[in-house]
Amino acid sequence: MERQLTCIVCPRGCSLRVTLDADGKPAKIEGNACPRGETYAIAECTAPMRTVTSTVKCEDGTVIPVKTDRAIPKGLVFEAMKIINATVAPSGAKVGDVLVREILGTEASIVVTGKKP
Ligand code: SF4
Repeated sequence: MERQLTCIVCPRGCSLRVTLDADGKPAKIEGNACPRGETYAIAECTAPMRTVTSTVKCEDGTVIPVKTDRAIPKGLVFEAMKIINATVAPSGAKVGDVLVREILGTEASIVVTGKKP
């Protein structure tokens, strides 16, 4: 069996062809222009991870951009978005402030990444 992936590690976006063995594990990876693509393909086929980017409401009614400070398991993204949507940041929140620590038992925190409009 094969999987077609697009490497998202850098803007080049190499098209990867991953041949899976009988257990569904990556056996051969083609199309990557550098070793990071192979690492990405293996992770994507075995334990996919995602960095979550969103916005959070502030107490003063504005919104502020946030993201997880590291990737979390892809299967937790929906639940993480529920927590992000329920979070209210202080009016004075600034870049780097941590709004939620260790979200869903991971090592990732939700941090402010930009200024309010
Ligand atoms: S395989 Fe390497 S060069 Fe290609 S998109 Fe991934 S990181 Fe970039």
